[in-house]
Amino acid sequence: MPQYLVGKHIHITGVVQGVGFRPFVYGLATRYGLRGWVCNTSAGVDIEVDGSSEVLDQFVVALSNEAPPLAHVDAIEVSDVTPDGWTEFTIRQSVARADDFMPISPDIALCDDCRRELFDPNDRRYRYPFINCTNCGPRFTIIKNIPYDRPFTTMAQFDMCVDCAKEYADPLNRRFHAQPVACPKCGPAVWLEEKGQGAKGEASTAIEETRRLLADGKIVAVKGLGGFHLACDATNDAAVAELRRRKGRVDKPFALMAASVESIEQFCEMNDEERALLESKERPIVLLHKKNVALISPHVAPGQTTLGVMLPYTPLHELLFQPSAFSPQPLVMTSGNISEEPIATDNAEALTRLAVLADAFLLHNRDIHVRCDDSVVRVFEGKELPIRRSRGYAPYPVKLPFNVRPILAAGGELKNTFCVTRDGYAFLSHHIGDMENYETLKSFEEGVTHFERLFRIRPEVIAYDLHPNYMATRYALERSEQDNIPAIGVQHHHAHIAACMAENGLSGDRPVIGVAFDGTGYGLDGSIWGGEFMIADCRGFERAAHLDTVPLPGGDAATKRVYRIALSYLRHAGVEWADDLAPVIAASAIERSVVAKQIESGMNAPLTSSMGRLFDAVASICNVRQSVNYEGQAAIEFEAMADPNECDAYRFEIGGTRATRHVDARSVIRAVVADVRSGVPASIVAARFHNGLAAMVREVCETIRRERGLNEVALSGGVWQNVTLLRRTLGLLRAADFVVYTHRLVPPNDGGVALGQAVIAAHQMRDEM
Ligand SMILES: [Zn+2]
Ligand SMILES: [Zn+2]
Repeated sequence: MPQYLVGKHIHITGVVQGVGFRPFVYGLATRYGLRGWVCNTSAGVDIEVDGSSEVLDQFVVALSNEAPPLAHVDAIEVSDVTPDGWTEFTIRQSVARADDFMPISPDIALCDDCRRELFDPNDRRYRYPFINCTNCGPRFTIIKNIPYDRPFTTMAQFDMCVDCAKEYADPLNRRFHAQPVACPKCGPAVWLEEKGQGAKGEASTAIEETRRLLADGKIVAVKGLGGFHLACDATNDAAVAELRRRKGRVDKPFALMAASVESIEQFCEMNDEERALLESKERPIVLLHKKNVALISPHVAPGQTTLGVMLPYTPLHELLFQPSAFSPQPLVMTSGNISEEPIATDNAEALTRLAVLADAFLLHNRDIHVRCDDSVVRVFEGKELPIRRSRGYAPYPVKLPFNVRPILAAGGELKNTFCVTRDGYAFLSHHIGDMENYETLKSFEEGVTHFERLFRIRPEVIAYDLHPNYMATRYALERSEQDNIPAIGVQHHHAHIAACMAENGLSGDRPVIGVAFDGTGYGLDGSIWGGEFMIADCRGFERAAHLDTVPLPGGDAATKRVYRIALSYLRHAGVEWADDLAPVIAASAIERSVVAKQIESGMNAPLTSSMGRLFDAVASICNVRQSVNYEGQAAIEFEAMADPNECDAYRFEIGGTRATRHVDARSVIRAVVADVRSGVPASIVAARFHNGLAAMVREVCETIRRERGLNEVALSGGVWQNVTLLRRTLGLLRAADFVVYTHRLVPPNDGGVALGQAVIAAHQMRDEM
């Protein structure tokens, strides 16, 4: 039977550039004996082919089924064209139009092929710390502009040698158009600078020398992919304690890097999903349960049952962990910064800012254009639960179930990320950090400028949090005025719920029951919200129920010295401040009288319905902790001690009518006090508290379902990082036949708020058009 020749034009969108897509198409076309061409445009990849109809169909299927590992195909549009009678298949020159854009790949961990070459003495890149290919290496952190081409990256200053240029130009080579391609002859190099010695060491000995210093208990600043790490031997108590002292970080946990999964299994429990995440191309920090605690210094993560651990993700890391005269133990690898400042990225900047922190610097001369911290995830029900979404993930977009106008969403105050949107994409930024100093604000502003340039976005609306004192809010309002862009204020918890809906692919036109539990968010009535049940779609919300408010004596002082919020809750519950109670003991007589006055007068005691603060109060009454050194610390430690076998639950009272429904915690506070007084261990109290919260959530959701006929529940807000609470609540809600949405792509904490702000602003714009 004769085969009729037909022609097809194929347009592919998604992450399809800088990931070896054209060579893949070339290889595929050759395999199927097709003629035509493939070409990068600034909106994706275009293909034109002639062949028999049947073969072309197979070709199209293979395009998505066999796509290279880093590619992420969003859409393949196929249209018929007249066959052109091509005589061969070619890779054509890129064409770029001014306004086109496309998603950019995140930075990707070293691939297996490159790892093999790295340790092959016969390879010309043997032990070269910057080996990479189209399947791995830096992307986002080195890109200054699009199209993604070497002159627009921080590799521009390195001229390729003849051998590298040959690989770069060969469509059948793994390094075809790998923009950061380099070798020891032509690419970047490392060197070591020891403090006070300034002089550059030799590249060949820098890594061995670094290992010697680490084995010796020294702290070394190591330049990585998205910024500097401070590294030290995690098994060396004195070294870790010294790092804490220098960083001014009392007990916030440090992340670890270990040579291999086998090495991590020495001190952490691990299931298959956790192992897969550790080894994934994103290589995040994975939170794992500790075991054999004696192996790792207790100063690494005091008061925690988990450790944050990652595997090496750059060739430089791999070399650091190679067995040698100074075989390294697991290393602490914490952000190279002083307390809450942004992570250092520049050599000169690091040498000054980190001078008081590090004994030596392992530097290199490939510039980092965008600062990008390590990502943090945990595994829940076999899937990823992001805690911090940054390196390896950003700027990969969240695909929205609808098209949106260009929007900039400024995000929140703590764990800030921002978000820009275009077409069907929401580009949620890398982790910016807590916006409490000038350096972080600067980093935020640079990030916004960069994203707008990278994705060719000129915002038509700016979305912001209602809190008037948030730095991101002030930026949004100033920018709105300066550039004459309309601004839309979005309530904090509404944004949380919208983020959860968006990442679950909901259109946002149908209301859900949103359960937003977190530490702090500005409420419509000017009080601090955080224990909220809302009936929300992506246009608006109704506050359907909330935790009863209590005064927060001293405002911020009470979020740090948590016994103050405990005192407030005790007063609220009618429990006398007797001196057998831990929070009463923690406060001096003078402070108690100040707190009492603040509660009575309401002066410097804003009202709050925050669930985070209720956790703080109960943890304080159980004497888990009376003051915290980082946000959420008391709640995290309280969760860690909850006894999984305890089934009893404290009972919250649910009061009011449909219009005034509220959750009363007084009976819970009284029950906690009674248990503590009768010597019930904190592990049991913690379990009963978690169980009680889960039951309360189900009860409120059932009431709302009865009244409104809503059956879908979205859980969002930082409290839902608490997997003990999440597991129990999900169990109860599912048993009651609710459809429940949780976070899998963006963090439930404030790191995800910008996505929700953007989605809400998009809906409001659509309504106005
Ligand atoms: Zn590679
Ligand atoms: Zn070279």
